[in-house]
Amino acid sequence: PSMAVNMESLEEDFRQQNKSCFILGATGETGRLLLKELLDRNLFSKITLIGRREVTFEDKAYEKLIQEVVDFEKLEDHATAFQGHDVGYCCLGTTKAKSGAEGFVRVDHDYVLKSAELAKAGGCSQFHLESSKGADKGSSFLYLKVKGQVEAEIEALGFDRLSIYRPAVLLVERQESRPGEWMARKVLSSCSFMFPSMSVPIQAVTRAMVSNTVLKPEHPTEILENKAIHTLGASPTK
Ligand code: NDP
Repeated sequence: PSMAVNMESLEEDFRQQNKSCFILGATGETGRLLLKELLDRNLFSKITLIGRREVTFEDKAYEKLIQEVVDFEKLEDHATAFQGHDVGYCCLGTTKAKSGAEGFVRVDHDYVLKSAELAKAGGCSQFHLESSKGADKGSSFLYLKVKGQVEAEIEALGFDRLSIYRPAVLLVERQESRPGEWMARKVLSSCSFMFPSMSVPIQAVTRAMVSNTVLKPEHPTEILENKAIHTLGASPTK
């Protein structure tokens, strides 16, 4: 059978299991598209957004969503928000430019790790973490070091399954303005066919995350580097 047919039947099997998931960072660029992809493919019978603010959606497709508004500084008080989900997706993150070095560590490390802990304690068996190309706990760059640390610490929590995605620069028309990234993206997207290792369309990341959810990995922890994201996340019509 072709891969497309196989994927369809895997998705159908998954759908039959009436699973529930949560998304962290669903208001961000990746998270928003991930949510759309999950709704389009209808894999879950229940989707919960966990975030610091409530969001309003116009589209009818979004009306069944559950929203949990939490204070990330007191996540312990919101343990119930993390209970009873089969799968968790994390697209949370900030930057040093936006939040300072300390703020970056707080969000990209502390909030992410605590959320994973609460999810694990609440019965979640699969965790999908959007990390970054070059993540390495031994790196001397704060960004890559923090990404690597949080990967390792979440791995130690012992989920039945942990999938780590390490995209390069995300190609997306960002809603907020980040001039440096904008320039990099302009350059990268115009030569992304020549240098696919330096960037990845955001749709490829979210498609890869969703497709991968229904696949059976060989090991409890798997890392999808940028190249694997390109492959798994390639548009089916391409
Ligand atoms: P965005 O910046 O678009 O979205 C970030 C999300 O995190 C939003 O939902 C935002 O919520 C939430 N968030 C940020 N700060 C806080 C906070 N203090 N408290 C609670 N929630 C917060 O993210 P991207 O989609 O660009 O990136 C997602 C992940 O991918 C990040 O971890 C990033 O490091 C990583 N990555 C990004 C790359 C890139 O090129 N941009 C490349 C490789 C990896 P709110 O809407 O309320 O602010």
